[in-house]
Amino acid sequence: MTVPHTPTRSTRDYQQLDAAHHIHAFVDQKALNAEGPRVMVRGEGLHLWDNDGKRYLDGMSGLWCTNLGYGRKDLAAAASRQLEQLPYYNMFFHTTHPAVVELSEQLFSLLPSHYSHAVYTNSGSEANEVLIRTVRRYWQILGKPQKKVMIGRWNGYHGSTLASTALGGMKFMHEMGGLIPDIAHIDEPYWFAAGGELSPAEFGRRCALQLEEKILELGAENVAAFIAEPFQGAGGMIFPPQSYWPEIQRICRQYDVLLCADEVIGGFGRTGEWFAHQHFGFQPDTLSIAKGLTSGYIPMGGLVLSKRIAEVLVEQGGVYAHGLTYSGHPVAAAVAIANIKALRDEGVVERVKVDTGPYLQQCLREVFAGHPLIGEIQGSGLVAALQFSEDPASRKRFANETDLTWRCRSIGFDNGLIIRATGGRMIMAPALVATRTDLDELVSKTKLAVDQTAREIGVL
Ligand code: PMP
Repeated sequence: MTVPHTPTRSTRDYQQLDAAHHIHAFVDQKALNAEGPRVMVRGEGLHLWDNDGKRYLDGMSGLWCTNLGYGRKDLAAAASRQLEQLPYYNMFFHTTHPAVVELSEQLFSLLPSHYSHAVYTNSGSEANEVLIRTVRRYWQILGKPQKKVMIGRWNGYHGSTLASTALGGMKFMHEMGGLIPDIAHIDEPYWFAAGGELSPAEFGRRCALQLEEKILELGAENVAAFIAEPFQGAGGMIFPPQSYWPEIQRICRQYDVLLCADEVIGGFGRTGEWFAHQHFGFQPDTLSIAKGLTSGYIPMGGLVLSKRIAEVLVEQGGVYAHGLTYSGHPVAAAVAIANIKALRDEGVVERVKVDTGPYLQQCLREVFAGHPLIGEIQGSGLVAALQFSEDPASRKRFANETDLTWRCRSIGFDNGLIIRATGGRMIMAPALVATRTDLDELVSKTKLAVDQTAREIGVL
């Protein structure tokens, strides 16, 4: 059990103070202040409690990050031990420490053998910032400094700092300031929305071929890397057709363009494989990681490099002109070690692959088969999306789909369920420690919210 929470202030008090001083993420702050944010005070397993004692089933693992669920004593103890022993030291003065060394040992014992080195960061955004500089450095060392354009995808998400925003394809984020030179985008492989009359396989190939066209347009001699999430997370848990990744990999290899997987959401067991690229069966040159690395208990991210890149950087690169005060932070590293051990030694990832993952996917497909509001169900392991559709047979989307999914999400919250709405999709990603009972609660509460939304618009 986590430490019980004794309310020290009223919810209204918290809300007023928060409104006076705090700018929240991705929200109209004025509207939020008028409504007042929920005040979460405690978590245990998959459940959260707010300051008024209301209990929620967290169907989103926080923000796709609390892979081990809430309230893990072993992670708290690992942090506490490290705080007492060596709370901080840096990586600048020719120094290392046992926590970061042992974290690398654990991490590379999980990863396929063609990866060898990691640069540690505090977040996923930073991992992708570091990625841009690192791949450009790689090509500089190889005598190809002009190879610096990064290609990302529209509706991709790679973070909220300047360059990671630019790398991503969220136009509303670009509008706030987030465009930098030498970044290009291609379309996302969102078959439900854009596939038209094409089969998913044909559409997947066509989307991948856009990469080839973009490389030829820019000149392969100018293109450093292609970056994408193996499945899109913030964009709507969009799983590309099977044909997509093999074709992307072929193109990257053919034109000597690095293939960079953003595993910030997909990493550490989400799909039932340790990393999402393993689920799709391709071999990236770099992996951006964060979130599930520490189950979100403490901020940490990183950029994993293949031997091919690491050898060039280390053997021929001279000074690598990058460093963060908190790179490889000992407390974060200690938590990451405890987290990886638990995910592995308790068979958490294995269970997602053989039991709870298939169970959730099957339940969703049974419960929502033929539902008048649902046009597509996608997912693997413990990540899934329900696509709203006005006419599932013709894949017609609602003109006001974001209003409808937002309404569905609000009904969920009212009934003690946290799921997220993105565009026309309801998305879920419960903690990987979810039991079948937790998943039953997730599916039945989701059904309740979707049904009520359908009733309100008169289709059920
Ligand atoms: N990449 C992906 C795929 C993400 O989903 C996110 C965060 N949702 C990030 C990068 C950025 O990570 P952070 O918020 O830790 O900076």
